[in-house]
Amino acid sequence: MNKEDTERVKELLSAPKNIVIVTHKNPDGDAIGSTLALHHYLLKYKHRSTVIVPNNFPGFLKWIPGTEEVLIYDYHTEISDVRIAEADLIFTLDFNALHRSGDMETALSESSALKIMIDHHQAPDNYAKYMFSDIHMSSTCEMIYHFIDMMNDIEIIDATIATCLYVGIMTDTGSFKFDCTTSTTHHIIAQLIDKGADNSEIHNKVYDTNSYERLQLLGCALKNLKLLPEFRTAYTTLSQDELNKYNFKKGDTEGVVNYGLSIENVVLAAIFIEDKQEGLIKISLRSKGHFSVNTLSRDYFNGGGHTNAAGGKSYSSLNDTVEKFISILPSYKTALNNE
Ligand code: 5GP
Ligand code: MN
Repeated sequence: MNKEDTERVKELLSAPKNIVIVTHKNPDGDAIGSTLALHHYLLKYKHRSTVIVPNNFPGFLKWIPGTEEVLIYDYHTEISDVRIAEADLIFTLDFNALHRSGDMETALSESSALKIMIDHHQAPDNYAKYMFSDIHMSSTCEMIYHFIDMMNDIEIIDATIATCLYVGIMTDTGSFKFDCTTSTTHHIIAQLIDKGADNSEIHNKVYDTNSYERLQLLGCALKNLKLLPEFRTAYTTLSQDELNKYNFKKGDTEGVVNYGLSIENVVLAAIFIEDKQEGLIKISLRSKGHFSVNTLSRDYFNGGGHTNAAGGKSYSSLNDTVEKFISILPSYKTALNNE
């Protein structure tokens, strides 16, 4: 966002407005953290702010301050439609194409509210009046920190806002270890701790609340893990039957794909998760180095994301989807072996 746009946004926010903040389907830590951080910030200026997410989110995020106020479009459709229709301003966070907002897409595209995008994914669509889009940012939460800074308001970040921001930066950087983690990320994290984010407690709340069944499901995914050394690739699957057997709950498969990537020499990892209710296979892809899973996902699996972390979907069976994946690997053999 250039200086002029920053000034215009500042002006827009100088008087109370009806504001809606939305994020992508299957919200993760960065989606929930960034929307709620912005929500708490806007409340300080007496705006009427509503956070709306397309569908439910994992239990390990439900302690974040403000989650009880979040409208879930799937369950609260009518009131959400009213709030979207009444909005003067809509912030779209952690996604950059309206179809990623699931069933909210129609309401959002029909709304005449001025839209502001804050996001770190590749190839943004052109629906927003103001765009703060930067693929080099670790997370949307890091961008919200910068956004608040651009509004000259760093000093009003309190423990609540700091906690929300900490969650998203922590989850999107894999606890500060992915390539996207920069010294600026660490500087921001230091500020957030100074402002009251309890780093150790946040880690515990997000990562150390496993159920026994979730660990058994992880065991099942690890048992299903296949290694294709000539393509430096590891992939695994979870069928609907396996998910049912271990009483799958939203968020239970978060991070499972990373185990494949932790194998020595592996630079591409995938997980294929069957969802019979939605009639699709959800695919998560992770890579190391320059190999772009964003491109692979866009080209073959109706998806997208970042260079090293992307997702997509397939409407074929689990077996056919895996076969398709294996069949495209030879065309990437050189790229995978050059990493
Ligand atoms: P995950 O594998 O954790 O679901 O997603 C990894 C990254 O890819 C996230 O940044 C997420 O926003 C993006 N992503 C996941 N699924 C999709 C999808 O279906 N379409 C697009 N465009 N991006 C996705
Ligand atoms: Mn993100």
